[in-house]
Amino acid sequence: MNLYKSILPVDERGFYGEFGGSFVPPELQKNIDELQEAYLRYVDDPEFQKEFNDLLRDYVGRPSPLYFAPRLSEKYGTNVYLKREDLNHTGAHKINNAIGQALLAKRMGKKRIIAETGAGQHGVATATVCALMGLECSVYMGELDIQRQRPNVERMKMLGAKVIPAISGSKTLNDAVNEALEAWMKDPENFYLIGSAVGPQPYPEMVARFQSVISEEIKKQLKERTGKENPDYVVACLGGGSNAAGAFYHFINEPAVRLIAAEAAGKGVDSGETAATLTIGEKGVLHGSQTLLMKDEQGKVKEAYSLSAGLDYPGIGPLHAHLAKTGRMEVEAVTDDEALKAAFMLTREEGIIPALESSHALAVLEKRKFGKDDVVVINISGRGDKDLDNYLNSPFAQGNQE
Ligand SMILES: *Cc1c(COP(=O)(O)O)cnc(C)c1O
Repeated sequence: MNLYKSILPVDERGFYGEFGGSFVPPELQKNIDELQEAYLRYVDDPEFQKEFNDLLRDYVGRPSPLYFAPRLSEKYGTNVYLKREDLNHTGAHKINNAIGQALLAKRMGKKRIIAETGAGQHGVATATVCALMGLECSVYMGELDIQRQRPNVERMKMLGAKVIPAISGSKTLNDAVNEALEAWMKDPENFYLIGSAVGPQPYPEMVARFQSVISEEIKKQLKERTGKENPDYVVACLGGGSNAAGAFYHFINEPAVRLIAAEAAGKGVDSGETAATLTIGEKGVLHGSQTLLMKDEQGKVKEAYSLSAGLDYPGIGPLHAHLAKTGRMEVEAVTDDEALKAAFMLTREEGIIPALESSHALAVLEKRKFGKDDVVVINISGRGDKDLDNYLNSPFAQGNQE
């Protein structure tokens, strides 16, 4: 066991191999040290764990089902199980982590939460948890994303959160994170509730740990269903890496379990409009962490593109950079069109409308051939209500109108 009391390959400086650490100005490092100390104090505290697990059960609705998908299994000639994070309160896995961090904020005596959001899903999860716990909430969101994601902005406002437009740079997620970090530096009384397994340590470790309930449940549920707790494959989509970290967590040290990550290729990995960080990224520092990121010719952070707002992040969490680099995790780059097609496939075969992010993981069924005895678990990170416009305006909706 290491400093972080983690089963992950992390050292005391927060590095996973060559990726991770904390690259921030000294003023911000003070806040991070305080956070790290609190995290290490409480993460295994039985009272903290009880409060966390009770809320996951009674408020989020966990355990989320592990559903054997019979028609999908037949179509692809294998055994497909879907981990239904889409059935969580607020519609995605993000709430697991938001609850964990908000409980920590309360233990630290913080009364104000700041968060960043891209598509607004982490913003909604954070605003929800702040309402639940009586905390003040400010969400930084790119000005462009505010225009593109109206319903989530309205949900956050209804929940009592302040939505603050991030107006620097490209006016999207990348800038929202920068502005949230800056606000935290200016006022250490804030608690910065980050939404993915990214940022300086201890964030990647902490977020992975709060999401690890996903693989903990998969193990139990598979054991009940099949008599074996390990599947042959676990498949998850990658934005910053939090749902994948949660789905992979308890299998990372089980070499027989193959881990497949689906990153967003956008219009194609070579199109210039992509978010396939692991395929084309280079080493660098983004949002306080040494990781892989997409750069332009000048070496500056390159704007990511994916039709899926939850996946268009120019970096990736350091754990996943390490798992990809060492070959422990296999990577598939999935285009917008492949993901859209997979969304219609799941909807028509099983009556489940997945989030566009999750559809990237589902598309792996088309890209890979699995054996007839293989057990393949796919993490359905969220539900697709927010994506209906994209779905119905896509070519795959044709012929479905009559
Ligand atoms: C935010 C989001 C993602 C991407 O974020 P990760 O941190 O990589 O999990 C994926 N799916 C859904 C439904 C999301 O809301």
